[in-house]
Order: sequence, then C-alpha cells, then structure tokens
Amino acid sequence: MSSATLAGTSAALQLERECGGVNNMAEAEERLEAIGEWLVLSCAELPRACRYRVLNECGMNAFSLPGRIYLTHGLYARLEDDDLLTAALAHEFAHLVRDDSLRPRCADEGEALEREMLADAMAVEYLRRCGVDPTAMARLIEIVAGEQPEGWATRRISRLPRAAADVPR
Ligand SMILES: [Zn+2]
Repeated sequence: MSSATLAGTSAALQLERECGGVNNMAEAEERLEAIGEWLVLSCAELPRACRYRVLNECGMNAFSLPGRIYLTHGLYARLEDDDLLTAALAHEFAHLVRDDSLRPRCADEGEALEREMLADAMAVEYLRRCGVDPTAMARLIEIVAGEQPEGWATRRISRLPRAAADVPR
C-alpha cells in the first residue's frame, strides 16, 4: 500500500467511526454499485475501483475518500429514484476527480461553496453522459438544502447549467 492509500484507509475508518459505523444494507450497496458502475462506464475520467457504503449517522450527507463513496442512511432514504442517487454519486465522483478529500478543509465559507458548485457542474456533465436527466442535480440540492449553510442551495441551483437548474415545483 502506498502512503496515500494508508492515509485514505485511516481517514475512512475515522469517518466510519464518527458516523455511527457502516450500515450493512446489501440491497443499497448493490444499487449504489450498479449506478456507480454505469457512471464509470459512461465517463472515462472517473476512478475505477470505488466502494460504496451507507453510514448509520451524520444527518443527510455524502462523503468521498480515495476509492470510497459514502452516503448516510438519512440521505439514502430520501433518494427514492435512481436519478437522484446518480446525481449524489456524480457529485461525489467530481470531488474524487478533483482530489478534494486530500486537500485541507476550506477555511472560509465562500471557498467551500465554490468547491461545491464546481463539483455540481462536473456532476451535471456526468449525468448528461449517462443519459440521466440533469435536473436531478437541482432536485438533490433542494433535498439537502436544510443541512447546508443558509442560502447555499439557492446559489448552487442558480449556478447549475441552465437545463439542470429547472426544478419542477
Ligand atoms: Zn460536495
């Protein structure tokens, strides 16, 4: 194992501990794996060997670390259709492509928001290539709006490529 892989593994264990452990939902993991596989097949730049796990706690959230994508149970339960789940994975894949998990946490909120908006835009492109309706990205942002700093959801949605921002109300 390289030192980067080791660091990734210990970060994964710490995250799993902080979020109440991994929920062994075989059905959810299979569904995430199938969707992740489809994303990877459709978008050549995405990393191949990725494992998908559901965490017991930590609200409605998603995380990515090298080789791993996590959704909390709270978020997974709200993502009824596959388009929403694809949007969540696409956004996390964008963080992986940009190595965001290896960078220091953003010190200021504006920078953190920029990071999210960049991942959103990349995710919309991945959704298009997968043949998934890109408005799923805006729907996903609305679902997690309450978990984010005030005003983020509106700004994230307004920054999405046009068709992807059309949230049906
Ligand atoms: Zn993000």
